[in-house]
Amino acid sequence: MGLRNIRKKGDPILKLKSRKVERFDDRLFTLLDDMRDTMYEADGCGLAAVQVGVLKRAIVIDVGDGLIELINPEIIETEGEQCELEGCLSLPGESGITLRPKRVKVRAQKRDGSFCEYSGEDLKARAFCHEIDHLDGHLYTERLAPQEVIARLKAETQNTEE
Ligand code: ZN
Repeated sequence: MGLRNIRKKGDPILKLKSRKVERFDDRLFTLLDDMRDTMYEADGCGLAAVQVGVLKRAIVIDVGDGLIELINPEIIETEGEQCELEGCLSLPGESGITLRPKRVKVRAQKRDGSFCEYSGEDLKARAFCHEIDHLDGHLYTERLAPQEVIARLKAETQNTEE
């Protein structure tokens, strides 16, 4: 088990942009393994390399359907919108309602360097957006949903359920 320290709110590294991964070597594999262990230990559903102090475009996500590793991820499609409660391992004890796409499609590399596409809906879509935001130095607190959007989406959901 390789546990790393999770950088917390106020640490300036969280505002920096991460660099593209060019070398798919043992150092990257160790980083990904440690990120996985650190995420599970902290009971999170996603972690970006910058959160353990490494400015590389790599994230790990597990929303309950298995671990995925995304290297140099890019959002290539989004659809719809959702407002749900979101938190972050770097901002313990806090949460806020964010505005995110309902569905996203992501293109990324695996640890062997091959390209792959992933689709996510609801929680998984939020996790993709949240973690990819970290790679550009953004936190979910910059995506908080305006009150009127929350109200509109709530009304729309109720109409669909009737
Ligand atoms: Zn986060």
